[in-house]
Amino acid sequence: MEAKVKRGCRVLVPLGKKKHYTGIVDRVHHDTPDGYEVKFAFALLEEQPAVLPQQLKLWEWIADYYMCAVGDVYNAAVPAKLKLKAEPKVKRKVRRSVLSNVDDDCLVTGLKPLNDNQQRAFDEIKTCFENQPVCLLYGVTSSGKTEIYTHLIEETIRQGKQVLYLLPEIALTTQITERLKRVFGSCIGIYHSKFSDAERVEIWNKQLSDDPYLIILGVRSSVFLPYQHLGLVIVDEEHESSYKQQEPAPRYHARNTALMLASLFGAKTLLGTATPSVESWYNATEGGKYGLVVLKERYQEIQLPEILPVDIKELHRKKMMHGHFSPLLVEKMGEALARHEQIILFQNRRGFAPMIECHDCGWVPKCVHCDVSLTYHKYTEQLVCHYCGYTVPVPQICPDCGSQNLHDRGFGTEKVEDEIKAIFPTARVVRMDLDTTRSKTAYEKMIRDFEKRKTDILIGTQMVSKGLDFDHVHLVGILNADTMLNYPDFRAYERAYQLMAQVAGRAGRKGERGLVVLQTGHVDYPIVKHVIDNDFESMARAQLSERKVCHFPPFYRLVYIYIKHRDRLVADNMTAQFTAQLLKVFGPDRVNGPMQPVVARMHSLHIGMIMLKIESNASMAQARKLLLQVQQQMNSNPQFKSLQVYYDVDPV
Ligand code: ADP
Ligand code: ZN
Ligand code: ZN
Repeated sequence: MEAKVKRGCRVLVPLGKKKHYTGIVDRVHHDTPDGYEVKFAFALLEEQPAVLPQQLKLWEWIADYYMCAVGDVYNAAVPAKLKLKAEPKVKRKVRRSVLSNVDDDCLVTGLKPLNDNQQRAFDEIKTCFENQPVCLLYGVTSSGKTEIYTHLIEETIRQGKQVLYLLPEIALTTQITERLKRVFGSCIGIYHSKFSDAERVEIWNKQLSDDPYLIILGVRSSVFLPYQHLGLVIVDEEHESSYKQQEPAPRYHARNTALMLASLFGAKTLLGTATPSVESWYNATEGGKYGLVVLKERYQEIQLPEILPVDIKELHRKKMMHGHFSPLLVEKMGEALARHEQIILFQNRRGFAPMIECHDCGWVPKCVHCDVSLTYHKYTEQLVCHYCGYTVPVPQICPDCGSQNLHDRGFGTEKVEDEIKAIFPTARVVRMDLDTTRSKTAYEKMIRDFEKRKTDILIGTQMVSKGLDFDHVHLVGILNADTMLNYPDFRAYERAYQLMAQVAGRAGRKGERGLVVLQTGHVDYPIVKHVIDNDFESMARAQLSERKVCHFPPFYRLVYIYIKHRDRLVADNMTAQFTAQLLKVFGPDRVNGPMQPVVARMHSLHIGMIMLKIESNASMAQARKLLLQVQQQMNSNPQFKSLQVYYDVDPV
């Protein structure tokens, strides 16, 4: 076995009480480890490695940068079946030379010729890649970014190299898959979390084989697949916060991880978006780290949609609102329906989940394990905790005062759907959110039905805001921008701008100029004007100058430190002591804490939080080292033996 075992091979190892566990060989050596008991690996599962050297390097980088265990990365990266012994062996031979037999099916024919503006952008991207490995393509909605990507992909696979095309959301894969399959046929593999584990193993093994997919289209976890000759990475909608994994570790950012992955292969990375993240914008302008290509014209020179702000505070006061609909929005919807045009309505539910409230005493049902109110699900008549899944039936009477006066508060997409049905009873409405898209095919069906004009109105959360390309949407309604604007986070304005500009971008993509009705109680906010004027650059400038003053990214890097304990007092005490230690090491300018986390109790554990800010030009490696030293110091105190600490590096 010793003669056969190689880096990346799967072996069975004895671990704890469990008899065996599948591990990956990281290094073959004769050094005696310090402080560990040495155990024998008792079987080599296959002679061919299941994990390639670049993957192991990437895992190490993630574990180091995001401050978690390599095991956490392994768990996230490798499909469950490959971690079991039973997986049937596949024959693989890792190809050493350039992929030679590029399928005919993959090249030529479905490519649409680029127009002049697109061609200029395409040429600029290529020039940029001659000098820099990373380029930001800032192209307004419907400028044809996807067409430009398609041409770049074609060139890359022609050279026998692989392409990774990252999307932030499964909802988007449907349309893009179809567009790419028309051009590249069966050379595309799709990878996302709605696939079964068996399907994921199949793709994994194919990528290790002689005949891998040349193009992988997927969401954030596709950075973990084996690649053999990666030439190009496209990160579409690069500004999207869903690229960051929140829970559990590794809390990695797929955009930044993709940049690292590309650099391991000497591949190029294109970040594409109509609304760059403030960080990437900085990197591509003042920061000088990325190249920048700008495309301001929509395909066929259709104007960007006209955006009409509506002051809903005033209308509520005058009692002129129809539920959550202003008279202007109702009027424009009526006109659009009469002309058989389609409508998209956007309601951001984040931080504003619909709840039940007792109108007599103000009682609100809370989760028994977490510090959050339960969300009301009308169709199942249940109250659900969105953090831990705790579910109870809706009570008939208030447990506090006995009143029957229990009503919902706040509004989500479900409520919007009900209101539309009352205002436009004959309109065909579909709702796209987490609840209605649980099955693998749900998105596809909704998007197809809308494309085929089987539905008139599409209501949705963030999912409808990005990337989707429909031909017959004239009107977009943003029901309430205020929850986005009032969100307590330094990125709130940036996010609000991105969401509004993106959802507005769904209007008028073909034919006539589109229309957006933007309902808000803050028509006077500068950010609303930036959205109306489509003035990304002013928004970014304002945000950057604020962040420079307040010491936020991109000028500083953030690390959130979370401390958990069953006992509230112990958690508080630990957080206070941890903060005190950090202050000694990093100084008062770099440590904020203890802070109140958004949710202070989760899964019955109390949570303390500390924010660490490190200058962007300082050594992060050194900062991490010091931070881990502080943690070790804390852990060595017998009082804090049960201390649980985890880190969120570059939180979003
Ligand atoms: P973006 O990704 O910038 O939002 P898309 O690539 O989705 O823009 O383009 C918007 C629409 O215009 C799509 O339906 C696309 O097929 C069409 N389109 C863009 N460029 C071309 C082109 N050069 N030839 C034909 N159709 C195009
Ligand atoms: Zn009550
Ligand atoms: Zn809960």
